[in-house]
Amino acid sequence: MQLNGLKRTHYVGEMSEALIGQTVTLMGWVQKKRNLGGLIFVDLRDREGITQIVFDTEISKEAFEMGDTLKSEYVIAITGKVEKRQSVNTELKTGMVEVFAEDIKILSESKVPPIHIKDDDNANEKLRLKYRYLDLRKPKMYNNLYMRSKIASVFRTFFNEHGFLDVETPFLNKPTPEGARDYLVPSRVNPNMFYALPQSPQLFKQMLMVSGIDRYYQIVKCFRDEDLRADRQPEFTQVDVEMSFVEEEDVIRINEELMKKMFKEILDIDLKTPFMRMSYKEAMDRFGSDKPDLRFGFELVNLNETVQDSSFSVFKSAVEEGKFVKGITIDGGADSYSKKGLKNLEKLAKTYGAHGLVWIKVLDEIESPIAKFLPEEEMNALVKAMNATKGDLLLIVADKKSVVNAVLGNMRCEIAKKLERVSDEYKILWVNEFPMFEYSEEDDRYVAKHHPFTSPLDEDIKYIFDDKERVRAKAYDMVLNGSEIGGGSIRIHSSELQAKVFKALGLSDEEAREKFGFLLEAFEYGVPPHGGIAYGLDRVVMELLKIENIRDVIAFPKTQQATCLLTGAPSIAEEKQLEELFLDLIEFKEE
Ligand code: ASP
Repeated sequence: MQLNGLKRTHYVGEMSEALIGQTVTLMGWVQKKRNLGGLIFVDLRDREGITQIVFDTEISKEAFEMGDTLKSEYVIAITGKVEKRQSVNTELKTGMVEVFAEDIKILSESKVPPIHIKDDDNANEKLRLKYRYLDLRKPKMYNNLYMRSKIASVFRTFFNEHGFLDVETPFLNKPTPEGARDYLVPSRVNPNMFYALPQSPQLFKQMLMVSGIDRYYQIVKCFRDEDLRADRQPEFTQVDVEMSFVEEEDVIRINEELMKKMFKEILDIDLKTPFMRMSYKEAMDRFGSDKPDLRFGFELVNLNETVQDSSFSVFKSAVEEGKFVKGITIDGGADSYSKKGLKNLEKLAKTYGAHGLVWIKVLDEIESPIAKFLPEEEMNALVKAMNATKGDLLLIVADKKSVVNAVLGNMRCEIAKKLERVSDEYKILWVNEFPMFEYSEEDDRYVAKHHPFTSPLDEDIKYIFDDKERVRAKAYDMVLNGSEIGGGSIRIHSSELQAKVFKALGLSDEEAREKFGFLLEAFEYGVPPHGGIAYGLDRVVMELLKIENIRDVIAFPKTQQATCLLTGAPSIAEEKQLEELFLDLIEFKEE
């Protein structure tokens, strides 16, 4: 049966009681089919939802016969009348109606799909990524892409309305300064030369400020060849922003306004401004992290003073050696952890670098492996310092400051999740006054914590050569529910200060010229004070929608091995291509 000139009248998922009596033409995929003898029921699906289609011999024998040949994921067009449904299905948005097919056309057939097109199909992720186009047919995945598009649109609308210009910047570049590994692209026309894909458009956006663009934004792919953690992708999307003639306060204000609009439009939540602000130091002291999750307590308590003369030598010597003893109080946690549970906590602590974990259960009597070392009053002092009462579980770590913070900072998040103590709210804040420099064990030198174009705080400039750890930067991160969703800084706009910072980073004049000479030169021709921020769009979507897997918010993501299971990228290059690029491959040996 041919339905030539067929034109879709509605989305399948749009069917409603308002359309009863109308003849509609729908197109979509067969979700499932049931043949009940004289009647065939087909669930037809498109991106807007599912509607029940009925094939009835009394209405059209031909349509009925063709309906009987349908299988899952066939693409069909049907024309028929919308009727009130006999047995209402309250689970379906369209469940009040059904469409009686008068005509049908099979637009394309389908093999048996390797995954069910259902939100809870439990298919393993490899299969989902290989058949991504099927996976994306699931309502949940469609919704993720839909919301991502809406979120991007809020960004765009806001910036367009506030005088920001959307300017594209090149992908084939000189290396940028974010400090991750670059993806290199060989140049055919310039043998043995390479472009780097941008880790961010940082230098270009700064040059746009020198160009007088004044306000810039761009939603742009960035590339970093890093080992992939759960929330990272080798190519990810930034909402990149830069503004001229601003100070930190200006950047913060406008971005709060933006987020207020975002929360209202996406979640219908009224965010209170100004957001909370916390210095990097306070965040590390209290939460062991520069992206503190404020949806639950379990704050870190510094116990150095309490235990400096402790009878438990591990604590005492830690303090003597300039290390730190800190703890967290899991209120009501004493009953939540059995012997085995505590062993697991200890294992967890070790995965974050701890050498050991001390636990104390505050019950009618104190239970703890260190109870035998501590006289009662010492134990009481500890319990008091940690503000603990009966029923609480205390976890204490003694180690280098960075280790203690990393261990307890991570554990408070994992425990809160496990014990379901994470509140439903959204907690947003700024973390600022980041350290300007950070010691890199790997490179055995100080590197820029943000990037080398970030301005130090005026009052700290004097320390940049002799007391680097003391120098704070005009850098700020926006943190939502324990995730850094954006980060930026006020930039250096004086070539003199920039030269000083390069020197402090151990970069000779020559190296600085070779790497960033074009920017330094641009800075010699009149540069406005400027600053900006970049949001990680993938992370913004994840946090707003509370989705844990970054791959679920990206249409075609890479695996943790940086491969694309759908297309098979990366793949080998042909001999001829390598020759054109003057490239020779060295045999790869697994270490
Ligand atoms: N380019 C920076 C980054 O990617 C963000 C910024 O400073 O605006 O982290």
